[in-house]
Amino acid sequence: MTPKVKTTDRIPSQNLRQYAGKLLLQNEIPPELASHLTQIPSIKRKVLYHECQRCGNQKKFLFGTIPCAKCKKLHLYCRNCVEMGRVMACEPLYYWSDEDSIWTSYDSPLSWKGTLTDTQQKASDQLVAAIIEGKKEFLIWAVCGAGKTEMLFQGIEAGLKLGKRICIATPRADVVRELKPRIQEAFQKVPVQALYGGSEDKEGSSQLIIATTHQLRRFYQTFDIVIIDEIDAFPFHNDESLPFAVNRAKKERNTTIYLTATPRQNLRLRLALKKLPHTFVPVRYHGNPLPVPTLKICYSLKKSLRKQKIPKILLEWITNRKNQSRQLLVFVSSIKLTKDVKIFLQNCLASQLGVIVSVHSEDEQRVEKIELFRNKNIDVLVTTTILERGVTFPSVDVVVLDAGHAVFDEAALVQIAGRAGRSADDPTGDVIFLHDGKTDAMVQAVHSIRAMNRRGGFSL
Ligand SMILES: [Zn+2]
Ligand SMILES: [Zn+2]
Repeated sequence: MTPKVKTTDRIPSQNLRQYAGKLLLQNEIPPELASHLTQIPSIKRKVLYHECQRCGNQKKFLFGTIPCAKCKKLHLYCRNCVEMGRVMACEPLYYWSDEDSIWTSYDSPLSWKGTLTDTQQKASDQLVAAIIEGKKEFLIWAVCGAGKTEMLFQGIEAGLKLGKRICIATPRADVVRELKPRIQEAFQKVPVQALYGGSEDKEGSSQLIIATTHQLRRFYQTFDIVIIDEIDAFPFHNDESLPFAVNRAKKERNTTIYLTATPRQNLRLRLALKKLPHTFVPVRYHGNPLPVPTLKICYSLKKSLRKQKIPKILLEWITNRKNQSRQLLVFVSSIKLTKDVKIFLQNCLASQLGVIVSVHSEDEQRVEKIELFRNKNIDVLVTTTILERGVTFPSVDVVVLDAGHAVFDEAALVQIAGRAGRSADDPTGDVIFLHDGKTDAMVQAVHSIRAMNRRGGFSL
């Protein structure tokens, strides 16, 4: 093991700084720097299994073997994180553990001049206190459309004043893309980098970073404050290697902030046991209640698709929508269905609905299409659950086709309903769930939304 490098060593710290807090492969660092970095084994042999030290993978089937040209032996490598470059068992991982002093203590980093509502301000004050006191954890439970990004600003400001390194981690690249300009605009003096698969920023060397949770695998004990957006969201809650990466990316002493609109059982339990300090924001920033979904029974959806004939109930709803100028977000359960439903709507209702487009996670034009929809160049967007959360469109009605499908769990349905009525100019919106039999998820989603409205002071 090479000893930890002090900034007084031969190589100036600014040359090392770009590596601060990152976990690197041999081929990612210039050879002359290698001896200045700390090495850790890339794959650890435990008693019964191996563990990849970059992603935490312990599953046997996610390790492969490959002949090594250097050692002339067969080696294990981790397939789980291979897209970040192959980690061979014989090569160490490198990191430069950064000294606290390399990060700037900003005087007044926040350029944002907006104001918070009273409810937002209360949550923001609690967040600032949690950061200044160095609390281990803090949860912001805020309904969809509460304006949680704005609620974070003063907390981030407090961290930057203290010279902390901060990461906002979110499961979805779409959300990273949407957050980057807003955060940079709010903190104009502070370099902000956004990291996701295929992002322009590659370095991950700035003090304030927005990253997908996958990208946190690149870091090692570097962040003082980690803000985990959408803690309940796929894939965080069912991919064990992501909590591993998030934990490893944090400094030993750190503050972790969780954000959610729909906490899952494990969090609810900790809240009920008063084991997690938190704040609850039950009202949207514009002061209107959350739209409550209407459940409509529709047995003939599959047949209608086959016969290219619109179900009566859907036709009635589309025709009688209160505000026909709203765009329409149509959620379906699979990638294949996005195309089928788009064609179906084009055949049946093009004259009534205008420009109809579909999008899904593997769509190469995904980013452009979402942008076109946001700018109202598209009237109807048929989508999978990729747009269930994190994205804001100003004026939409929402329909979920086959809402009883297993991909639409309670959290997903609450989030989907939360896409409607997000702007102050159009604070309401119709949300319907078409189904051929009510599921617990649907009933629970409606129940949760009503409960949140009641806590927000609405008698709906
Ligand atoms: Zn791995
Ligand atoms: Zn080797």
